[in-house]
Amino acid sequence: MKTANQETLYGKNPQQLAALCLEEGLPRFAAGQIARWLYKRHTEDPAQMTDLPAAVRTRLAQRFTAALSAPVRVSESADGTRKYLFRTRAGHPIESAYIPEAERATLCVSSQAGCRMGCRFCATGRQGLQQSLPAEEILNQIVSLPERDRLTNLVFMGMGEPLDNTDEVLRSLEILTAEWGFGWSPKRITVSTAGVVPQLRRLLDATKVHLAVSLHNPFPEERAAIMPVERAWPVAEVVRVLREYDFTHQRRVSFEYIVLSGLNDTPRHVRELCRLLNGIPCRINLIRFHRIPESPYFSPPDEEMIRFRDALTARGIQTTIRASRGEDIQAACGLLSTQEKARQ
Ligand code: SF4
Repeated sequence: MKTANQETLYGKNPQQLAALCLEEGLPRFAAGQIARWLYKRHTEDPAQMTDLPAAVRTRLAQRFTAALSAPVRVSESADGTRKYLFRTRAGHPIESAYIPEAERATLCVSSQAGCRMGCRFCATGRQGLQQSLPAEEILNQIVSLPERDRLTNLVFMGMGEPLDNTDEVLRSLEILTAEWGFGWSPKRITVSTAGVVPQLRRLLDATKVHLAVSLHNPFPEERAAIMPVERAWPVAEVVRVLREYDFTHQRRVSFEYIVLSGLNDTPRHVRELCRLLNGIPCRINLIRFHRIPESPYFSPPDEEMIRFRDALTARGIQTTIRASRGEDIQAACGLLSTQEKARQ
């Protein structure tokens, strides 16, 4: 009988497939054949891999369990945003948000069920970490999405801290961007991090994807009060690492900034942001705070968001206000899965 712990074929990279072919007595080129079935045709069922010998197909079917599974729930917003709930093989609910716009369609994927970073403004942080997702469960959110063929962009900004699951996130990025894999341009992918410094260089060295850093406050003590990660890896250290890399050509860096009324949106914060980011070609994305239950934080009124944006722009930092999407369907990351956990 198959169990949740069984190995999956989906999610393996060419080196792993080559090792498998060796074990199965297949020629090395069979690794490429299997990769094509998995990542071009998106089938993981060995029975359909008709260019492999029948006996091998039977053995693979016995050996590997299915990785791909459809979402178990969907909520649709009036603005077209859809939040999908997937269940991991270990049974944890995870969220993906599909965000269609005029000229692009973005999927926000989760890299973990829950998160251990504990950001105070985040419903996922309150859950704690239940599970880091293997590459196949990250990829499943894309492959099993009903709108898969419409996707233009991917952001790792769902549940979890991608750099707290770096090995599997890198494997999923390899499969997404390699010619033998999905063949996506890295320019279509953004990985967001709260700033896990030891893993940041790995990501920047191993990939060409865009980077988003969750900043939210430029002052160490104030940031630590809402983001405990600041105590382990100060954002000043993150910025020092970023200065070693080129963000002028192929890849971009942006800073995510949830605006919390009265807490991080004063002229003092404008000045410190400019000092901290001085000389880094970047953009700041201002984000409205999506309320979560029993939270002391509030988003400022629109006119104050605009004033804050204009103050940063006037000092030379490209700053945008991100459009709020899916407000009516538990837009804050982690709320839907928190409800699902309560329901179980
Ligand atoms: Fe984790 Fe991101 Fe939430 Fe912070 S904001 S707790 S890093 S999921």
